[in-house]
Amino acid sequence: MAQMFPSIGEKRPKMPVFTVEECPRCGTKTKRAFKNGDYVYREGGDCPKCQAKTLITQIFAELIKLQ
Ligand SMILES: [Zn+2]
Repeated sequence: MAQMFPSIGEKRPKMPVFTVEECPRCGTKTKRAFKNGDYVYREGGDCPKCQAKTLITQIFAELIKLQ
């Protein structure tokens, strides 16, 4: 198995990290908390609308804005 991306899960991020799963069939995007082992283009969970397999399209850390 070729893994193109380094595992982000090995480092403990200080910011909350999110994973976006996108359904290739209906285009529904689901944002959820990042889980160890997630990487872009990995297979995600089932689409809540059409039950197709989703694909992880984005992993990002969200900056918390301090007022
Ligand atoms: Zn779908």
